[in-house]
Amino acid sequence: MNSTVRNGLILLGTIVLLGVFAFVNVKPAETMDVGTFVTRVQEGKVKEITVHGDRLDVRLADDAKVEVKKEPGESLSEVLKNYGVDPEKARTLKVTIKEPNGVGYWAAIILPPLLSFALMIGLMLFFFRQVQGQNNRAMSFGQSTARETAPTDNKNKVTFADVAGVREAKNELLEVVEFLKHPEKFAKLGAKIPKGVLLMGSPGTGKTLLARAVAGEAEVPFFHMSGSEFVEMFVGVGASRVRDLFERAKKSAPCIVFIDEIDAVGRQRGSGLGGSHDEREQTLNQILVEMDGFEPNLGVIVVAATNRPDVLDPALLRPGRFDRRVVLDPPDIRDREEILNIHAKNKPLAKDVNIKRLAERTPGFSGADLANLMNEAAILAARRDKEQVTMVELLESIEKVMLGPERKSHLMNEAERKVTAYHEAGHALVTHLLPHTDPVQKVSIISRGRAAGYTIKLPTEDRTMKTSTEYREEIAIMLGGYAAEKIIFGDITTGASNDMKNATGLARSMVTQWGMSETLGPRMYGQHEDMIFLGREIHENRDYSESRAEKIDTEMDTLIRTGLETATKLITQHRDAMDRIANYLMTHETIERDEFADVVGMPPANPKNKSA
Ligand code: ADP
Ligand code: MG
Ligand code: ZN
Repeated sequence: MNSTVRNGLILLGTIVLLGVFAFVNVKPAETMDVGTFVTRVQEGKVKEITVHGDRLDVRLADDAKVEVKKEPGESLSEVLKNYGVDPEKARTLKVTIKEPNGVGYWAAIILPPLLSFALMIGLMLFFFRQVQGQNNRAMSFGQSTARETAPTDNKNKVTFADVAGVREAKNELLEVVEFLKHPEKFAKLGAKIPKGVLLMGSPGTGKTLLARAVAGEAEVPFFHMSGSEFVEMFVGVGASRVRDLFERAKKSAPCIVFIDEIDAVGRQRGSGLGGSHDEREQTLNQILVEMDGFEPNLGVIVVAATNRPDVLDPALLRPGRFDRRVVLDPPDIRDREEILNIHAKNKPLAKDVNIKRLAERTPGFSGADLANLMNEAAILAARRDKEQVTMVELLESIEKVMLGPERKSHLMNEAERKVTAYHEAGHALVTHLLPHTDPVQKVSIISRGRAAGYTIKLPTEDRTMKTSTEYREEIAIMLGGYAAEKIIFGDITTGASNDMKNATGLARSMVTQWGMSETLGPRMYGQHEDMIFLGREIHENRDYSESRAEKIDTEMDTLIRTGLETATKLITQHRDAMDRIANYLMTHETIERDEFADVVGMPPANPKNKSA
């Protein structure tokens, strides 16, 4: 029961109680004063009197009923005597005395205070709830908050047709769909159906989407819960939620239990500090217990997703648990085209839209980025009162998704514009003149997000590996902005700090993780461990000596200094080209790929980058 429903019921309860309360107390009989009553008695117009303590229910000659209140402690005969009623007359009256001990009597005495008390408690609870709000679900503690999607729910139904790319993952999961649809086929041959499938992939590759699609294809119920939802303030809640979730799932088998972002609970145990850590550990243990506990062919398949498989507890990956692991690759150019087409569906596109070209221009975009791109373009088109989404909006949205929104309002003064123009010209020229780089796609001094200007270079093909040479050139490109500022203005602005940070990080990875340093050789330096409570790397297990640490520093310095020297040399040699690029930027704000080579006056050093 969710908390709004509960609040509603409490309120309803109090309203019903109020109704009962009113009913008990309000008597619809007419009242009559004692004087009139006595007169009626004397006139012989009273048929019958029932005495309820101090109340007299009187039936008159015309059968009308009235109520008379007498003084407490005075009997009916005393009243009649005091008012001087003829004793003869009084004797003929038909009087019934009702002992005040019936259920109704007690109810009338006990119920009103009881009801007011209940009412008060009810109202207090109700307001208490309101104040507590959504955050503190103290009352619903151990119940799982899993959302269930029924197979008949066609509105939220997702199938494999809605997921583009990730072909291997889809193939693997087709098998799971088979398991769920025809478990007997596998049972007949003595095959054990896997209990757990782990989806791994970087953010936005469609893990959540794919899990839904499996349920949609298999047409089974789908329980969706996120790892972080298990863990709350109170110790023990997570474990009890896990129990509850599996309880529900077993009742609806065959079905899928989907635990999204499982790394929130499934991180390696025994490596952290603090109380919340214990809670996480208990939750994880409970998941393991539940997974071990059910029969393999029961038809409950647990699908989990994570973008950090490296931090997961090895116990999760043991046989009988998440022993199926499915990797979702980032989309390549063909997948990107497919994904864009899926998200272009209910959007009217203009004739000039070329999805293929968009796919070419969006390397490194995840499925989620591409969905976002389509949506941003549609918003832009709507804001411009267009009937259709055109290529202009789509191209603009690429940069918006990549770098954040344009900041036209961020006005730079002339000096800042000049520094930015030369800074970006530095990045762009170094890119253009080094032999293993990607082509310069666009240079701009319009601020976007937090950057004053930007240079976009895009790979001509999808690649997953890079060479040491390419990374060295990359460092030179990153420092191109810094070099340009120093050469042209003899001074450095804060604008180069992010470039420095990136260059340093890259140099460190090259030396310590990728074995790209001659002197330090093919060795990993340091085991990087995560501390859960900050959720990011703050801690490195140093598994090397102090003297190695010094060498690492020296090697990083060398890489960075060499890169800076390369950049400095190119910029000094081609000072005229620098001026041309910077001047162009100051008048036009952006240069596109086609114009760039003309402005520089030289073809790109990488023959692959000659524009088509
Ligand atoms: P993840 O769980 O891997 O972070 P999601 O499944 O939440 O990513 O993806 C977010 C959104 O991005 C999806 O709802 C969908 O609109 C879009 N998307 C991601 N990957 C794909 C894909 N392969 N095909 C189609 N749409 C995708
Ligand atoms: Mg997700
Ligand atoms: Zn820069």
